Amino acid sequence: MVEFGRVETLEKKTDYTRLIEEFGAQPITKEIVRFFKNKNKLLEYEFFFAHRGFDEYLKAYSRGEKVAVVSGRGPSYHMHLGHLIIFGFVKWLQDQLGAEVYIPLSDDEKYVFGKVRDLNEAYKYAIDNALDIAALGFNPNKTHMYISSRTDWVYSLSIELSRHLTYSTVRATFGLTDSTNAGVVFYAAVQAAHILMPTIIHGMPVVVPIAMDQDPYMRLTRDIAGKIRAFKPASIYSKYLRGLTGEPMSASNPETCIFTTDSPELVKKKVWNALTGGRATIREQKELGGEPSKCVVYEWLMIYKFNSMKEALEHANQCTSGQLLCGECKEMLSKTLIKILEDHNRKKNKVRNELQKFFDHKIDLSPK
Ligand code: SF4
Repeated sequence: MVEFGRVETLEKKTDYTRLIEEFGAQPITKEIVRFFKNKNKLLEYEFFFAHRGFDEYLKAYSRGEKVAVVSGRGPSYHMHLGHLIIFGFVKWLQDQLGAEVYIPLSDDEKYVFGKVRDLNEAYKYAIDNALDIAALGFNPNKTHMYISSRTDWVYSLSIELSRHLTYSTVRATFGLTDSTNAGVVFYAAVQAAHILMPTIIHGMPVVVPIAMDQDPYMRLTRDIAGKIRAFKPASIYSKYLRGLTGEPMSASNPETCIFTTDSPELVKKKVWNALTGGRATIREQKELGGEPSKCVVYEWLMIYKFNSMKEALEHANQCTSGQLLCGECKEMLSKTLIKILEDHNRKKNKVRNELQKFFDHKIDLSPK
């Protein structure tokens, strides 16, 4: 089994068992997987592997309650294919549960954390990112995108919730120092408002699919929900997909990821330089076989090409038995990613005229 991203030297250290054993998250059980009539390969791979309160959320759904999914995006640059994994899963949840999906585009977060020059820059990326997200096929009647600083209820709800957060809790959660600006401190309340709004205003239980390093923020928000006696938001945690070079995917290290704006030539180049589990020579590769458990190309093929664990294991067997060369896998991955980008960008262009339908407030499709 490939333990996505389980490389201890990475900055984003991925100790999946600690989240469960030390921090009290629950593993995703077979019952949860079986709850869904349609299969999802990310659940089958255990890429989504842990949760808080997701079982209670599904019980509420089974009782006939309307449910919501919240999944935010900080718009500071173009999106890459790694970002789209979580949103693809959110779309799948919408299809399975008929869930209302709320997508805050947190321009305010990116501004106070210094990731963009000004709110206008974040706005431009918010519109571009919204197109990428809408292109995944979300139902516009059940999907609510909003730009955080331009949405009325965000401020009032954040103020209300801020009374239930102490400075010391925020400092510990976000790792603040004396020179941190006050916007970062207040942003903790804003984030809680994004997550809790569907529960507080519309009475719907919420689940947040999220990478596991976001758990401290979920704990903080669940804590606030407990204080105001609201349904504690559930969360479902993903593992990491390593970047192509083996490092964490990051927009500031473009070789690690494939942006939705990358050209086919650039995709080929990045994949060609990707980390594999191959041997030093072709002869060794044929004699000893490769090591798919170390191979980023294999991880990416699992996510973007193969449709099931069975298919992934067959490929792994071909690798370990020396029947495959890394160049063949890279070729396969390049072609797959180029095709995904072509389809995605065609849908992105098409959804442009529909984008306003996803927003609860007026948007400018061609911001200056
Ligand atoms: Fe990875 Fe393919 Fe090379 Fe095996 S042959 S190590 S799966 S790139």
